[in-house]
Amino acid sequence: MTALSIVDDVHTEIGEWDGRGWFPPGPQLAICLSGGLDELSDTELMEVAAAARRQTSWAQARELAAIAELSRRRTAAENDDATDCRILSAHESVVEEVAAALTVTGNTAATLVHLADRLADDLPATRQALETGRIDLHKTRVICDLTDGLPDGIAERAEAAVLDKAPDQTTGQLRRRLRRIVRRLAPEQLEERKREAVRRRDLQIWDTPDGTADLAITGLETTEAHAIFNKITAVSRRIRSDGGTRPLHAIRADLAKELLQGAPFPEAAHRLLTQPVEPPCAEATTAPVTAPELPRPDVTLVETLAEMADRRLTKILTHARASGRAKALPFLITRAVQDMHDQLHGLCENWCQTTGQTPDRHGHSGYRPPAAMRRMIEARHETCVFPTCNRRSNRCDLDHTIPWGRGITCQCNLAPLCRRHHRTKQSPGWTLIQPWPGLLIWVTPSGRWHITLPTRQ
Ligand SMILES: [Zn+2]
Ligand SMILES: [Zn+2]
Repeated sequence: MTALSIVDDVHTEIGEWDGRGWFPPGPQLAICLSGGLDELSDTELMEVAAAARRQTSWAQARELAAIAELSRRRTAAENDDATDCRILSAHESVVEEVAAALTVTGNTAATLVHLADRLADDLPATRQALETGRIDLHKTRVICDLTDGLPDGIAERAEAAVLDKAPDQTTGQLRRRLRRIVRRLAPEQLEERKREAVRRRDLQIWDTPDGTADLAITGLETTEAHAIFNKITAVSRRIRSDGGTRPLHAIRADLAKELLQGAPFPEAAHRLLTQPVEPPCAEATTAPVTAPELPRPDVTLVETLAEMADRRLTKILTHARASGRAKALPFLITRAVQDMHDQLHGLCENWCQTTGQTPDRHGHSGYRPPAAMRRMIEARHETCVFPTCNRRSNRCDLDHTIPWGRGITCQCNLAPLCRRHHRTKQSPGWTLIQPWPGLLIWVTPSGRWHITLPTRQ
């Protein structure tokens, strides 16, 4: 039997994607992944992409495990009194070996060896999550980076606290959550890290592939950086409203460039417009407004409903495939979510009347939500409710999930959406339904669903 016919055999046996959405990474998945794509449904294509990513994570875990094993061997063999500064330490030597073997720079190799050592010694759960494809290398790096240098025991606690949700979060979401946790567990370490970053502040330049160069100030205090950015943006807006024809981003860049080249603020603005410009008003230069602290809605109830929804939809998915109706999935899933919405309607109405901002009636009478309702919804969702979007909710529009008229202005029918995801919602094949206040279910054109819950600290 040739190697090829073995692959063929295994492939006919397990090549179908039906029910194999969560097939674990490893040699068998590699064979599944090598099949053709032409015959697959849209849903299956997305499953192949997700499976390939799991397989990549698995391979990266193998790469790091091999490096860690080499590092362990070299360090164990190192002479204890090897203080000869003319030769490389065992660790430095491993870095060079890795750099040569993988054709990467010394810096990259040092980072890889460090990551490999930390995964092997300090972060076994993260290593396992990478190996089983639950998280990718980017998220692994985030966890490694933010737990680096934490006191004994704290790194494990932080790791344990983030890993459950990490598979469903983007790298940015994971980083923010982990940073919050570390701030709670080891505030001094985070503070020291920040001071260190400020100490290393710099003006940096690098060439881009476009043939231009980027220039950036690194290591600024956050409030300071926002104040500078807001001030430049405010003046840029004024220049544009006074007749400037360039887009805002270009005015912003040109203004910053003039200022850095030594032009005083008003002159710089003049030069950009050749019209008189007033100095920026004080209120436009303050740091961004953050959402006020408000009591959070009952997240546990929402979570329970989300789990129920997920179970129900998974059942429909399995059934549709078993009965050869995979093509009807977008329709079946959308209808199931809609049914869920309709079934919860009466309950939801009661809930809104007792917990909402419009006592004894369901919803506010106008199109625009009152300020208190807006604040409540912006606090409920810190970002746009598209699963991977990080646009802050106070910079989004509050969208009526069911358009105003048919739908009402209430916590059960409003959610922040950025412009891009507002357009996504309206695009053919996409559906967004809010079966319960703060619980949003997206159905994609390929019949997959994504559940967005209220933000949790
Ligand atoms: Zn309502
Ligand atoms: Zn968005």
